[in-house]
Amino acid sequence: MEIRIPEQRVPVEAEADLLVCGGGCAGIAAAVSAARRGLKVVLVERWPSVGGMATNALVTGWHRSDREKMVIMGLVEESAVRAQKKGWIEQDPKYPYAHETHWFDPEGMRIVWQRMLDEAGVRTFCYTTAGDPFVEEGVLLGVVSDTKRGRRAFLADYLIDATGDGDVAAKSGVPFAYGRDSDGLVQGMTLMFALRDIDTNRVQAAGDRAVESVMADMRRLRDHGEFPQFNEGNTETLLRLSKNHLLWNMCPAAGNPLDEEELSRLTAESREKIVAYLDYWRRNMPGYQNALLEITGFAMGVRESRRIRGRATLTSDMVLGAAKQSDAVGHGVWMIDIHDPRGSGYTTYTDRGESNMLETGSSYHIPLGMCLNDRFGNLAVVGRCASSTHEAHSSVRVQTHCMVMGQGVGTAVALAAERGSSSGGPAAAISSVDIRKLQNALRGDGVYLEDVPRPPQSSPVRR
Ligand SMILES: Cc1cc2nc3c(=O)[nH]c(=O)nc-3n(C[C@H](O)[C@H](O)[C@H](O)COP(=O)(O)OP(=O)(O)OC[C@H]3O[C@@H](n4cnc5c(N)ncnc54)[C@H](O)[C@@H]3O)c2cc1C
Repeated sequence: MEIRIPEQRVPVEAEADLLVCGGGCAGIAAAVSAARRGLKVVLVERWPSVGGMATNALVTGWHRSDREKMVIMGLVEESAVRAQKKGWIEQDPKYPYAHETHWFDPEGMRIVWQRMLDEAGVRTFCYTTAGDPFVEEGVLLGVVSDTKRGRRAFLADYLIDATGDGDVAAKSGVPFAYGRDSDGLVQGMTLMFALRDIDTNRVQAAGDRAVESVMADMRRLRDHGEFPQFNEGNTETLLRLSKNHLLWNMCPAAGNPLDEEELSRLTAESREKIVAYLDYWRRNMPGYQNALLEITGFAMGVRESRRIRGRATLTSDMVLGAAKQSDAVGHGVWMIDIHDPRGSGYTTYTDRGESNMLETGSSYHIPLGMCLNDRFGNLAVVGRCASSTHEAHSSVRVQTHCMVMGQGVGTAVALAAERGSSSGGPAAAISSVDIRKLQNALRGDGVYLEDVPRPPQSSPVRR
């Protein structure tokens, strides 16, 4: 069944040089870098605060190192320095000899990022969902949003889709991929949570044997259908640590993150699972008798949904082979890390007997082309919805990599806008930027960008 919506006159709420849809880590980096180069930037975000998965789904670990040295800098480094001044970020003890380098406080990072947006002059509209794109004579002009005050339009010369799900690009008709080739399923999701009032002295006194015995019992109960599914590796690690306020990444869910009813059910079920874990530990795990649930993610943690088809597509060979790209905007270091699409909580790539890690000391390039598309020259996507295969996505989706894309694309849009205004013509396509100029601008802004090969003589479009 369908209904017909009558044609409507819609008031314009805001006009800008650049409209960023989605205020996760990728959208923030894009908005800040474009605004700092003088663009009038508007950011619309459907949730009450910026930060996306990082703040609202409580995902708080960063990967910045190739296990020898730090290779992700720029706005990631600036965010870390600002957070560090307030005690809102910790450096991992293995720094820089592990991929994981930092753990931050989601409340603090929310404040850091909002301040960066405000200082750069970005107009932030939280509680505002980017709805239907507004396309006239084949030109993308903005989006409409159903607000409390009725339908409103947001117009701009350039748009960046940082919605994580690629909502704006997909609704504008840019082709996208969804799920893995074998069965069309996307990576599993996880609802994060934290506990408080664990008696850590008692846990320590009970030792590893207590954890092993609890793990064995949880497995037995689960296999008899008497206990919910859990991510075994993470649960064992977290029980061994048993710290208060830790963020527990152990409650898996599987389904379609673009289906609101299914997502609502999975989120509600996950909250029940978390209560079941805690009830069990209060009865069986030494030191947990008085433990309480401190917080659960405001939203389900979604790892993967649409991957918008770009002018270039990142593949697992490029990731694992540490491929270098002539249109690089930064580096990526994370491994192929696929959480079971069926929700077992296991990671699956290693099942094939292939290594899922890059060599120590190596990193791959994140190309600008994976954020651009052939349909609209004034539209880019950044973050986890950029163009990659299901396998490569599981690496490039991590926050530091999404921020590299955001900074690269935000800067590219500023340079394209400069080019358009100096020619006095319409907005120049983002792909028309001088890539060397872009790379030098990024280096000037603190981005680590090394080993960039010369562009091919005639640059064929990679697919
Ligand atoms: C459980 C879990 C654990 C993870 N572990 C790690 C980890 O340890 N380290 C790491 O770096 N990464 C990790 N990741 C991945 C990482 O957190 C995300 O891939 C990354 O945050 C994606 O950033 P993003 O800005 O592209 O998208 P998101 O963070 O999803 O942000 C998108 C934003 O757009 C908004 N939005 C969506 N649709 C609209 C719309 N139509 N209009 C307006 N706003 C909209 C959303 O509300 C959100 O704020 C994990 C992910 C999960 C789920």
